[in-house]
Amino acid sequence: MIVKAFSQSLYSEALTALSKRLPRLHPKYASIKEEQYRIAAGDAGEEAVMKKLESLTLPCKHYVFHNISLYGDSLFQMDLLIITPYFAMILEVKNIKGTIELLTNPSQLKRTLETGEVHTFDSPEPQLEESMYQLTRIFKEHNIDLPIRGAIVFAFAKNYIKTITNQTTILLRNEVPSYVRKINRENPILSDADLEKLKEYLLKKDVPFKPFPLSSYFSIPASEIKSGVECSNCSFIGMLKLPRTWYCPKCRKFEHKAHEQTIREYFLLYKGFITNKDCRQFFQLNNLHEATRILNGSNLMKTGNGKNTKYFKMDF
Ligand SMILES: [Zn+2]
Repeated sequence: MIVKAFSQSLYSEALTALSKRLPRLHPKYASIKEEQYRIAAGDAGEEAVMKKLESLTLPCKHYVFHNISLYGDSLFQMDLLIITPYFAMILEVKNIKGTIELLTNPSQLKRTLETGEVHTFDSPEPQLEESMYQLTRIFKEHNIDLPIRGAIVFAFAKNYIKTITNQTTILLRNEVPSYVRKINRENPILSDADLEKLKEYLLKKDVPFKPFPLSSYFSIPASEIKSGVECSNCSFIGMLKLPRTWYCPKCRKFEHKAHEQTIREYFLLYKGFITNKDCRQFFQLNNLHEATRILNGSNLMKTGNGKNTKYFKMDF
């Protein structure tokens, strides 16, 4: 049973918004774009493996979590986690095309494309080992004697994977359900009730990655981020406010709720709170009352009075 379903991360949405609102010639544009593609590829891989797990049937109770971060000795993140009464299993998912070699000493992942081009990446092995170690610590702390297994899953690789490492299980996406089914299940370590408790505990302790606003996370002055409301039809940033609607001077569309996405992007990218003045500046408004209407209608928490009124978004 899936208890934490796949969802595209807010971080991914924020990176897309940032690359849209950063001038092409900005010194950090290229690295932000690269990070955006890296995260999108990771999400696509995890989604594909998660789909396989949705159809997983086991003769015992089991729970599947997507993207869960916990505090052990320090914060660590697992792409996929499965818990059963017999074992826990961490899956580290990689979305890398080509022929892949996992090298050790030093750990590296080398891939060769059909064109012959070779790239090297950080190996997923040490990260998987670290996650297994940290999860063991958490289990020990709570006297949970559940063995922890781990595997690296290549989500889309079709090519033969050469490997000179023999410590880690390497799987292709299609192999995941049968691999999980084959794991030895003799004596259950946890009762169904204890498994239920562990599931609740993990959900409660999950710390989502929220490095917002991205301007501070990437040390980009907020003033360098392009302001304005975006047209969802042609992506032009700088829609004009008309009574009760927004107008795109480029494609001439009207969009009643165009500001809703902009308010999300403000909090993801710009600042942790918004004032009436910030709103007028970011939404390119010259009317204080328009800004008040937008802020009051955006489901924000309000503190202070008059000029000192600040609004916060509670769910980011
Ligand atoms: Zn437009």
